[in-house]
Amino acid sequence: MIIILFGPPGAGKGTQAQRLVERYRLKQISTGDMLRDSIANESELGRKAKSIMDRGELVPDEIILSMIRDKLENSDYKGFIFDGFPRNLEQAEALDEMLLQLNLSLDLVIEIVVEDQLLISRIQNRVRESKNARSDDNEEVLKNRLHVYHQSTEMIKPYYLKKKKLVEIDGMRSIEKVSNDIEIQVNNIGA
Ligand code: ADP
Repeated sequence: MIIILFGPPGAGKGTQAQRLVERYRLKQISTGDMLRDSIANESELGRKAKSIMDRGELVPDEIILSMIRDKLENSDYKGFIFDGFPRNLEQAEALDEMLLQLNLSLDLVIEIVVEDQLLISRIQNRVRESKNARSDDNEEVLKNRLHVYHQSTEMIKPYYLKKKKLVEIDGMRSIEKVSNDIEIQVNNIGA
């Protein structure tokens, strides 16, 4: 089973991905987490990525794609959940190519839909309540992350709609309600 969780920053992709991991024994592939790990390990890649992430811009495709290729090739899992990837059309096309080579196929793209105004207030709360907030969680950078989302990431919607893989979930409800709806969609795969 291969699923993409897609949605704006602060939509709750990470939380929902975690729930799917537990429920369906999938391997989570979060490019944001992988990049933050590289920064924490002070690797060369982390150094390159940090300033880009702190501005809310996209890290270059070749960096992201080689991380993904590495994960897919060095894993004995057959089920994956992508969270935060793909983030533009080039990444979406490259993913299709990689899956084809590995004889895997995408089952479902789940879009968690949340309005911008609510995202901004969620992130403001996250900053207020957390002592170790992410360095890209502040209002100015969030606005740029949202801008990048609308400019680049949303462009992958028509791509997956055409392939009849995309379903939309209303993300402006409780975590429980959102995850129930996601489970219904996942259980429907192949039906
Ligand atoms: P969010 O979705 O809340 O913005 P992420 O953890 O998914 O958080 O991403 C944080 C940052 O990491 C992004 O703003 C971007 O700079 C970088 N990043 C993560 N995934 C990708 C990707 N697939 N392509 C390019 N940049 C990425």
